[in-house]
Amino acid sequence: MLHFEGSKLLQQLPQQFFADLVKRVNDKIATGADVINLGQGNPDQPTPDFIVKAMQEATSKPQNHKYSQFRGSYELKQAAANFYQRQYGVSLDPEREIAILGGSKIGLVELPFALLNPGDTILMPDPGYPDYFSGVALAQSNLETFKLREKNRFLPDYSEIDDQTVKKAKLLYLNYPNNPTGAVATPEFFSKTVKFAKQNKIGIVHDFAYGAIGFDGKKPLSFLQTPGAKDVGIETYTLSKTYNMAGWRVGFAVGNADMIEAINLLQDHLFVSVFPAVQEASVAALKSDQSTVDDLMELYQKRRDDFFSAARSIGWEPYPSGGSFYAWMPVPQGYTSQSFADLLLDKAAVAVAPGIGFGKGGEGYVRVGLLIDEPRYSEACRRIAQLHLFD
Ligand code: PLP
Repeated sequence: MLHFEGSKLLQQLPQQFFADLVKRVNDKIATGADVINLGQGNPDQPTPDFIVKAMQEATSKPQNHKYSQFRGSYELKQAAANFYQRQYGVSLDPEREIAILGGSKIGLVELPFALLNPGDTILMPDPGYPDYFSGVALAQSNLETFKLREKNRFLPDYSEIDDQTVKKAKLLYLNYPNNPTGAVATPEFFSKTVKFAKQNKIGIVHDFAYGAIGFDGKKPLSFLQTPGAKDVGIETYTLSKTYNMAGWRVGFAVGNADMIEAINLLQDHLFVSVFPAVQEASVAALKSDQSTVDDLMELYQKRRDDFFSAARSIGWEPYPSGGSFYAWMPVPQGYTSQSFADLLLDKAAVAVAPGIGFGKGGEGYVRVGLLIDEPRYSEACRRIAQLHLFD
């Protein structure tokens, strides 16, 4: 038996922090415990029926059994352009300003590889979505992070990044509504971002994975709604959350034509786009009246409200999230995010994601996923109350 270790590049990939959490939760379940799993980020609702039906029809069409066009179907790019026009008032050229992705994670991970040379500097939020670091490692980029602080509503303060780092930086990632904090962007912040990017020649990548999930009647902003945004960056969008299509693997990137071309060119060499039937069903999703999305938002809003009131009733005060399906919860005195998460799993059979898994800036918090229904939030908080951590 030959033994293969994987390349040096593969060995530099970051450890999957949350693989350990999954293992711990499964070990706990194996003991017979009734675990309330608030640690995950996987949408729990099914894909709307009309999309599944569109897919069923699409799979039976012989033309969908052939190779896709390399850069995805024109219909899907046109549907994505129309969607951005309708939802955000943003005009896009389907061929030059849209790249079809097999899930937005692919775009986010491959972009540094498509755009940067080894050693180029990339700026990432801390806390942030851990998969960004896979792209940094594959591109052999130089990683610098910037802090998202609660006192700034988890928006970066660009003046905190030192001048040398700003000078070197080629790309900067943002994500609002934010995973893990639930924070949302403001028009002023996005304008500041465009100015900062122009002044310092830094490409902006806005991860809009939770673009559809805004609370209290406030629709999250697309970065591309900001004047000048297309000059400096792109936004990645996914059907995973908006239509509960996480397993289907489809999304797209929109914006700056050079960045889109770099993604498309790299993808010409890596993929033959997404299964054509998935693309056809995605067109149906994007073209629909979005009433299923409205229903889904109502559900997430109710869950957020249910969880917030259950948590507040035991003295556990949440960060007031404006979007995404997460609650960002403080760790009580005397614990780290890891030791608190361990305690909740061990003593209350409640799984949460420790903030440290999202970077040093996540210390002091745990992330709660709002992906189950009542009465489980009340039950989780009842169990946690018995630990007398917030009395
Ligand atoms: N970005 C963020 C912040 C996420 O939380 C996720 C998934 O959980 C993604 C991107 C990736 O989504 P997908 O690859 O399914 O489009």
